[in-house]
This record gives sequence, structure tokens and C-alpha cells, in this order.
Amino acid sequence: MALPDFNTALDLLKKGATLEAQEQITSLREKHVSLREENINLREENQKLKKQLSSQLTLTYEAPYYWKIEGTVKDGPFCQQCYDSSNELVRLQKDDSYGEGAWECKKCKNQFKDSNYSPRPLMTIL
Ligand SMILES: [Zn+2]
Repeated sequence: MALPDFNTALDLLKKGATLEAQEQITSLREKHVSLREENINLREENQKLKKQLSSQLTLTYEAPYYWKIEGTVKDGPFCQQCYDSSNELVRLQKDDSYGEGAWECKKCKNQFKDSNYSPRPLMTIL
């Protein structure tokens, strides 16, 4: 079936073929609805891709985690596991109970030890 268009509907109305014109208008309306839905979906997808792209442009991997670099501001670190698996930036929390340089992701519960890691002594003898 050819795509319905406004001119065909107008021509039909001019000829007094109201029933055919109505059919044309109905299919125009259906087409309009499906185009609107498609437009909404494309907008959502576009937003998602834009967000993904902007975070990728500024994201730097420094084992074992990611940093977000914006100009001279270094923000983070962020969980490598969460970002690589679901594109989510989850801020890592310092885990002082494990000592210096230990980090924990509150979402996936992974623990990370960076190059500054030094385990907290189990007992401090004075
Ligand atoms: Zn995580």
C-alpha cells in the first residue's frame, strides 16, 4: 500500500468522495501515531547515547578503577565492574576498615585495592 498523503485526501474531498477521503484521513492518523511513537523512541535512544558518549569521553581507566576528568577536575574513583557491565557510574567509598587505599562499591559490593594499599595492622601494640 502506498503511503497516505494529505493531497490525496484533499482531492477526494474535492471530488465529493467523502468515504474514501475519510479512509485516507484515518490511515494518515495511524501513520501519525506510529511516527510519533518512533520519534519518542529515537529521542530516548539519542539521550541515552549522548549520555554514554559524554561519560566515555571524560572517563579514564586507572587500574583498578575509573576517574572522570572534566578539565582540571578529577572526580572519583568509580567502580570498574559496574561501568563495564551496565554503563553505570557508581562512586567508590573508602573502606578504612581494610586500611589505606581500599575502596568498596556499595552497589556490586566489590572491593578494590589501589597502588596506595597498605593493610591496616590487625592489632596496634603501643
Ligand atoms: Zn560496582
